[in-house]
Amino acid sequence: MSDQGSRRVLVIGGGVIGLSVAFHCAEAGFDVTVVERGELGAATTGQTARVVRAYFPGRVEDSRLAAASLDEYLRLDVVSGVAPDLAATGFMVAVTKEADVDRLEQELDAQRAVGVVANIITAAEAGRRNPWLDTNGLLAAIWSPQAFSCSPEAIVKGYATAARQRGARFLLRTAVTGIDLPAGRVDTTAGPLHTDFIVCAAGPWSGDVANLAGIGLPVAPRESELMITDPVPDRTVIPFTLHLESALRVRRLQESFLIGLEGVPKQGSDRPKWHRAVATEFAARYPRLAGLGLRTAWTGTLDVANGRTAYIGAEGRFLYAAGFSGRGLCQAPAAGRIVRDLCLGAEIPDLSRFSINRPLVSGATPNA
Ligand SMILES: Cc1cc2nc3c(=O)[nH]c(=O)nc-3n(C[C@H](O)[C@H](O)[C@H](O)COP(=O)(O)OP(=O)(O)OC[C@H]3O[C@@H](n4cnc5c(N)ncnc54)[C@H](O)[C@@H]3O)c2cc1C
Repeated sequence: MSDQGSRRVLVIGGGVIGLSVAFHCAEAGFDVTVVERGELGAATTGQTARVVRAYFPGRVEDSRLAAASLDEYLRLDVVSGVAPDLAATGFMVAVTKEADVDRLEQELDAQRAVGVVANIITAAEAGRRNPWLDTNGLLAAIWSPQAFSCSPEAIVKGYATAARQRGARFLLRTAVTGIDLPAGRVDTTAGPLHTDFIVCAAGPWSGDVANLAGIGLPVAPRESELMITDPVPDRTVIPFTLHLESALRVRRLQESFLIGLEGVPKQGSDRPKWHRAVATEFAARYPRLAGLGLRTAWTGTLDVANGRTAYIGAEGRFLYAAGFSGRGLCQAPAAGRIVRDLCLGAEIPDLSRFSINRPLVSGATPNA
């Protein structure tokens, strides 16, 4: 990569997105500083279901970013010396409505065109791949082998190590408190910093950070939670399985099953209702596991963008990569490369779908 001399990139946020940006910009020769108010990878990046995958049904542009990211994770140990502990599980979308089967089948060519490997399989085949799933009522499934369980801690360490080896500096336990965009000045709790590019990668709090620069970025934090079953003394690996209609998602975590459920509010006083909905949906789809104890695995703060599509782009010297809405781990490598290319002024693909100038979407958007 060419030497960018003294051109400075200041990255706000040391989660997986900020660290991917830091690595790619440092590798391209920029003088990179990461400002993180806590510890690296300790916010949303530390709370994931630990899954990376390429296929996002109904969201071809999200699949494009995710599919373009997997190879980098597979090579992360080469550039950083840290292996991200990828273990192939595959991803399966179980479908119970005829209209959904048609819709997803019709979309497969577009998904394949952006790098997704996926095909439609019968309910019987779905049952063979995930023997715990009740296939009653299942019409078909989409199977994609491009899904892995991973170690977000190792990914964070890998990117941080690789960025540091290429000259990046890290200011930890340092919060950004003000941004003077025309002057290229960022105020922090450790004093002011001057920079050529400011990258907002502050995860769920990116709306607040962008506000400091007078820029509207519709990203907000939202409470989230995953549940886990009691252990089952059988470690059969199953694909990460999404039940499309209910948005129930299940994967194995050691001897237990890790469970997420979208589409039912889980914030504040809605949480007990969400717990009951998880138990009901899980028992309906996995009846042989219905008697198992269920408890909170961990809670987290989701980085929700308007329309649940990330914002990636630039407004002058202010760049943003935020609001990955539950897909940040999957999309961080590609997002980091796009931000690097924006700093380089290189040719980039059409980013209008990810721009802060895209039209706002009203109402809830389902998450695939
Ligand atoms: C329960 C749960 C499960 C998930 N599962 C998955 C999954 O399996 N796969 C997947 O791809 N994604 C998953 N996600 C989503 C994923 O975690 C996020 O999309 C991703 O971690 C976002 O990374 P980030 O770097 O943008 O944000 P973060 O990791 O939150 O990093 C942002 C950083 O910015 C810092 N910051 C904020 N404000 C300031 C400031 N003013 N000054 C300095 N620093 C600041 C914060 O301290 C934080 O460390 C999940 C999310 C949740 C909540």
